Amino acid sequence: MSTLDSLPPLRAVIATHGLSAKKALGQNFLLDLNLTAKIARMAGDLSGCDVLEVGPGPGGLTRGLLAEGARRVVAVEKDARCLPALAEIAAIYPGQLDVLNADALALDWAAHLTPPIKIVANLPYNVGTELLVRWLTPPVWPPQWQSLTLMFQREVADRIVASPGSKAYGRLAILAQWRCDARIAMTLPPEAFTPAPKVHSAVVHLAALPQPRFAADPAVLERVVAKAFNQRRKMLRAALKGLTPDIEDRIVAAGLAPTDRAEQISIEGFCALARAVAG
Ligand code: SAM
Repeated sequence: MSTLDSLPPLRAVIATHGLSAKKALGQNFLLDLNLTAKIARMAGDLSGCDVLEVGPGPGGLTRGLLAEGARRVVAVEKDARCLPALAEIAAIYPGQLDVLNADALALDWAAHLTPPIKIVANLPYNVGTELLVRWLTPPVWPPQWQSLTLMFQREVADRIVASPGSKAYGRLAILAQWRCDARIAMTLPPEAFTPAPKVHSAVVHLAALPQPRFAADPAVLERVVAKAFNQRRKMLRAALKGLTPDIEDRIVAAGLAPTDRAEQISIEGFCALARAVAG
């Protein structure tokens, strides 16, 4: 019987299938199978889980996910050149790897998986933040996924896990940490990828909480946070001007000072402000 070990090394896969990296598709491949196995393990126990992988490329991480015992992997790849390489992996795990040749941004991914679901990906940098925001803002909470284990540019990863008072703290930190435990699981230098990108990268692990940390209407919170950080250096009373006619009173009702600035306010503070604005 064929096993994963019988597959060629990823460098050979790339040569055989002519997978020259396309910048427009954010193609920076991970060719070290020890590294991709390590990233797969960061997603925790995969047995009994369906895994969504966006952008499998030549399949290094895909091999890791299957070797770690994922019940099923649904891999969404936009670049049809990668399909033959992925078919070789699928042949070793009959019925466990489904490859969808599609744009992840245009796909109703949940229709293809059965819970419990984990999402694991070395994301294309050009669509990574957009996908993350979508996964973090489902119509109902808890979401259909249990956890996200995702590669980002280091700068984006820092914004996801940032604390109040830091330069990186903003909309992404609040969106992520309001309803998830978020941490950087690993950092990687440019040389870990082929071709090497200009920037450092990091794997972020986000585990969905059963319910938000603090009560707030998601749409109101999103509006307040977006407006507050749109002019992050301004005091709240100026940044939030026009949100409601009596915004200063509502800021005070939320237990904050109109002279506070967005980057100093905790997630709890923003949720109190969202409740005061909604009320
Ligand atoms: N997972 C592979 C690895 O770790 O070596 C490849 C990662 S590479 C950073 C990103 C992958 O996402 C590429 O294979 C690229 O073709 C694919 N991709 C880019 N945009 C996509 C999209 N909108 N939907 C699905 N896949 C996409």
